[in-house]
Amino acid sequence: MENLRAHARHSAVNRRSTRLLIDALAFAAHKHRRQRRKDLEASPYINHPIALAHVLCDEAGVTNAKVLAAAILHDTIEDTETTYEELRERFGATVAGVVREVSDDKSLSKAERKRLQIEHAEQLSRRARLVKLADKICNVRDMASSAPHDWTLARRREYFDWAKSVVDRIRGTNTKLEAAFDQAYAGRP
Ligand code: NDP
Ligand code: ZN
Repeated sequence: MENLRAHARHSAVNRRSTRLLIDALAFAAHKHRRQRRKDLEASPYINHPIALAHVLCDEAGVTNAKVLAAAILHDTIEDTETTYEELRERFGATVAGVVREVSDDKSLSKAERKRLQIEHAEQLSRRARLVKLADKICNVRDMASSAPHDWTLARRREYFDWAKSVVDRIRGTNTKLEAAFDQAYAGRP
């Protein structure tokens, strides 16, 4: 009997998690539908949030649905018209909060945003750190394999070093993700 109850509870959690993830994918795909990455092929933007969730789940064994949903939604506030409130209503305060934590304030200059990412990294929650690590892994990998088509070598190198400065502030969060970042960083041009 207890087994049956535990099984029913587990199934309900699984169903909720699956629904959350599919809804996050549908929402992010819609919000990013007109955006492209900066690589030569102008890849669909949604490939990037999906890549974060894939790195977390497949490479680091992170299966927490709220963390994966936040990864899928991580660029919606920063790069689309999406608001925190909109995310909170649809996905709950935890997921919305993580997305807000990893979003730059677009009203600041680019240099200031870069500086603040380093400065604020240590204040991130554990969930936000996982998303931040995955974002830096994916962007540095992209920078190595399919960089923005018009970037100079110096700019790509600066990007690698800036990403490392952010990651260095949040080490001790997840061994596999940090190792994956270090491996990607080793490909610095
Ligand atoms: P940006 O923030 O403009 O661009 C990098 C961001 O673009 C990534 O973080 C990622 O963000 C997104 N992105 C989209 N497509 C790709 C892709 N194919 N590969 C990787 N990332 C992609 O870059 P910065 O302004 O940070 O430039 C890097 C450095 O270069 C800085 O230190 C800056 O000072 C310097 N710089 C140099 C210039 C020069 O001409 N030499 C001019 C301007 C800056 P997301 O995850 O949000 O999509
Ligand atoms: Zn991103």
